[in-house]
Amino acid sequence: MTPADARPMKVVVLLGGPGSGKGTQAPIIAKHLGVPHVATGDLFRAAVRDGSPVGLEARHYMERGQLVPDDITIAMLLDRLSADDAADGVLLDGFPRNRAQAEALDVALAERGAAVASTLDIEVPAEELVRRLSSRWVCSEAGHVYNALTNPPREAGRCDLDGSELIQREDDQPETVRARMALTLSSLADVAEHYRTLGVLRAVDGQQSIDQVTQDLLAELAIGDAPAG
Ligand SMILES: [Zn+2]
Repeated sequence: MTPADARPMKVVVLLGGPGSGKGTQAPIIAKHLGVPHVATGDLFRAAVRDGSPVGLEARHYMERGQLVPDDITIAMLLDRLSADDAADGVLLDGFPRNRAQAEALDVALAERGAAVASTLDIEVPAEELVRRLSSRWVCSEAGHVYNALTNPPREAGRCDLDGSELIQREDDQPETVRARMALTLSSLADVAEHYRTLGVLRAVDGQQSIDQVTQDLLAELAIGDAPAG
């Protein structure tokens, strides 16, 4: 039971595919909310560094380049939600990443008399994500790095520094990026659908400037913050 005068835990989930700008927005939104920014990648690294039992388990998978299983991820996240600084809430970044995790989070929060207050989805079409993530080029001479969108060479296909040809590593080629991302995006779509059904999903157009996306995210949060009396 939650005492009537207790402040409810405000849990906000930030959703977005790789390349959506989620990682840029998360700390800004967390600061605005006055709650910790909880990124699962950071949690894994911290748990491994601290040598906690769950961290050792996670390391077992990470060292093999495998995804950490849901039960370990969830255990780690619940530990984090119990920390003092999370008493008022958290901004979750990178969790839940599939429907099973979303359902486990609902159960865990319900046990604390809480629920996900809002899920903010930074929407960017899959092909635009592919374009963003496959924009990296390196020079064949010395590996100087360029980005076709944010840091293009002066002359297309040529290194500014040594004039050598720019090539794309296999990892950065559109077909590779598209294949790598397919499963992730499909799981994220399931998560979005889960929160849409619960009536807490709010979508923002991620194909705008960083500042405009921030403003839209904050505006959606304000709508979710209708005065509770
Ligand atoms: Zn070069």
